[in-house]
Amino acid sequence: MPPLPSLLNGAKQCQVMTKRTKLRCKNLAAYGCKACRMHGAHKSKNVLRGANHPQYRNGEETLEAKAERSEKSVMFRYLTDLGNHCNMFYKKLKTRGRPPSGYTQLDLTDPEQLALAILKTLPSK
Ligand SMILES: [Zn+2]
Repeated sequence: MPPLPSLLNGAKQCQVMTKRTKLRCKNLAAYGCKACRMHGAHKSKNVLRGANHPQYRNGEETLEAKAERSEKSVMFRYLTDLGNHCNMFYKKLKTRGRPPSGYTQLDLTDPEQLALAILKTLPSK
């Protein structure tokens, strides 16, 4: 099939190699894009980010802040375990909720795992 007439007039062609035929797509590229509408044409500046995105929740917490809070809650969980192991508190402290991701229950009677738990309570920076 010959290329479309507007391709001969200098319009951009879609740069995608098709999976099915292994040939280059013969459609016109969408305006300002490298690919045609069939192959995911979008301008990255048109992708809505942050407060403009329709699925934006509240903006109370950035991803970095969320990761830091998760890291700190793991650290706090290990500190609680260590305190319970040393009978530091007047009674065993109970933690509520599911354990944070990145936390694994360690057997603190084993010296190796005790050392690992102590290492996890140290700040990473
Ligand atoms: Zn295409």
